[in-house]
Amino acid sequence: MNATVIKAATVITMDAATGSSPVVRSIRIEDGAITQVAPDVDVRDGDEVIDGTDRLVVPGFVNAHTHSWEYLYKGRYDNLPLELWMLYSYPILGGRPLSPELVGLRSRLFAMESLKNGVTTLVDDVLETPTQDRAQLAAVFDAYDEVGIRANISGHVINRPFVDTLPFASDLLPADLVVQVRAQPVLTAQEYLDYSRAAIRDQHGRGGGRLRYMLAPSGPQRCTDDLLAGATVLGLEHGLEVHIHVLETRVQAVTGQDLYGTTLVQHLADIGALSSGTTFAHGIWVTDHDIELMASAGVSVSHNPISNLKLGSGLAPWRRYHHAGVPVGLGSDGCSSSDTPRLHEVVKMAALLHKAGGPDHTTWSTVDEALRAATIGGARTASLHKVTGSIEVGKRADLNVYDLGTLAFTPRSRVDNQLVYSENGSSLEYVLVDGRIVVDHGRLTTVDEQAAIAELRERMPAVAQWQDKLDLLNDGFAGVFDEVHRRCAAVDVGVERWTAQERGRVALRLG
Ligand SMILES: [Zn+2]
Repeated sequence: MNATVIKAATVITMDAATGSSPVVRSIRIEDGAITQVAPDVDVRDGDEVIDGTDRLVVPGFVNAHTHSWEYLYKGRYDNLPLELWMLYSYPILGGRPLSPELVGLRSRLFAMESLKNGVTTLVDDVLETPTQDRAQLAAVFDAYDEVGIRANISGHVINRPFVDTLPFASDLLPADLVVQVRAQPVLTAQEYLDYSRAAIRDQHGRGGGRLRYMLAPSGPQRCTDDLLAGATVLGLEHGLEVHIHVLETRVQAVTGQDLYGTTLVQHLADIGALSSGTTFAHGIWVTDHDIELMASAGVSVSHNPISNLKLGSGLAPWRRYHHAGVPVGLGSDGCSSSDTPRLHEVVKMAALLHKAGGPDHTTWSTVDEALRAATIGGARTASLHKVTGSIEVGKRADLNVYDLGTLAFTPRSRVDNQLVYSENGSSLEYVLVDGRIVVDHGRLTTVDEQAAIAELRERMPAVAQWQDKLDLLNDGFAGVFDEVHRRCAAVDVGVERWTAQERGRVALRLG
């Protein structure tokens, strides 16, 4: 038997008993599973022993919402609201499929950067343009298998023409462009569900169960009702996460009223597309009633504070979700909307951002909540809470081991606070997935980092040339998207998630 023991370390277990409070514990790992957590555990001949003195052990982080596609777009754009930004990061016209080789290289690099920052689980909503095929999906599974990360990997689907998913768009765009966009082929619900069944058969459960297929209808406005409801049923049948972008922007709140005469969450409830396997990415422009619907259906939310700030999407109702008991995870979102998959930055941002909501400090986000969302909360959103997200007997050993002798932890005060506010991942000594050391003192043990960087560097000029060409081709939509964004900003949607107006209302209340 292959056993590792971490002896007498400072541990944040995130279990029900000690939560995010640091305690001294030893951890015994056998064949990738945690078999003992106690002040003292068995050590047998042949065990590999890691001395826990001056070390902090924490559950590996779960990045509960991201898109590996955007890795090739890292650093390209700034100051674009979602609708305009999406036009360039997911071009409408001129898209041609990436080769499985490039998909594999991109995914490897993305997983490598994630692991080196202590992300042991990815919820990767893989959105290829124009659409994803089986070879591309297999390339992502192959890459994550090789790098040794845990992941939910989606087939993402949009099956309505985008001009019919944005208010005002079909009226504002030139008629010939509308015809051209509507003529692009889209999958039927049946075709997507068949594709997903094949993915479940061929890919789901690979890597000894580490790699799982995820259903990902893009959004309630971007998919047909039969697809959304069908994906929910298939997800429940196989215990899969169903990952949907919901109410990321004010434009989407206007869209709900425009398309369905109600909120997008109410619409999902009406068509039977809410379940305990459903995760909403973002969930910013939700009403209180929407949150009640989510809580009663067991829907969870993946919060992406850096992406939301960068795209100016607004502040998610963090406190309201916590009050309602909606499980919350944290995501980096893609590398074009946040420019980094490093979850340490996201955790810190989550702990800070919701102190900007108002003067009542008893409602501010806390270190405990941020750590919870980065670990067990994220695991819950990914339907992986029985597998990872806490240090407990029976869970897989996905662990981050930090050196407490570094400057970030000097002077050593509250290590939970310091983990969130002082540490950025540079003190990581080991990262373990399934009990296997995948990062050892900053070095990936499974793949050759420098070779992968060199390979992408060689390929990038051709990729960038192609991206520049697509930017030009899609520029024609920009004026209209800008107009849609501005018009929707003026529509009353019943909630406010932008600070300027929120501050105005607070001033009114206090005055
Ligand atoms: Zn997203």
